[in-house]
Amino acid sequence: MSDFERIFENNRAWVGRKVAADPGYFTRLARGQEPRLLYIGCSDSRVTPEEIMGVDAGELFVHRNIANLVIGTDVNLNAVVQYAIEHLGVKHIIVCGHYECGGVKAALHPADCGQLNGCCRRCATPTACTATSSTRSPTSGSASTAWSRSTCWSSASTS
Ligand SMILES: [Zn+2]
Repeated sequence: MSDFERIFENNRAWVGRKVAADPGYFTRLARGQEPRLLYIGCSDSRVTPEEIMGVDAGELFVHRNIANLVIGTDVNLNAVVQYAIEHLGVKHIIVCGHYECGGVKAALHPADCGQLNGCCRRCATPTACTATSSTRSPTSGSASTAWSRSTCWSSASTS
């Protein structure tokens, strides 16, 4: 079975489970969305916002990029934030990082990362995000670098 076959089969099974548990599920979703939360997180495939937060479809408006960057000149991010606030009326914005982030690791190394240079270098510069001291991962126990998301937000807004 190919990846695509598996995905479509999984999707059909998921639709079946949803309708069996709640026959009006898709009808309600089709009426529109009113999420209370905007989640800005990393594109990392291991960090799935709805799953880690235990929320269902319609509860979370999501923007993801490498290393969950919030940069004031990012037109895509700005459009998401404006739409979330002005049109969806979200009440809270969550900027969520994670341990072992490849984007943060790349930002801390001087190697040429091609197209990634633009975003990763912004993360590593003092005027964008601030890398903080090493911390210990509660799950792996390995050292990793955490960074201040609040500093990232305020610095990115002024740059
Ligand atoms: Zn990441």
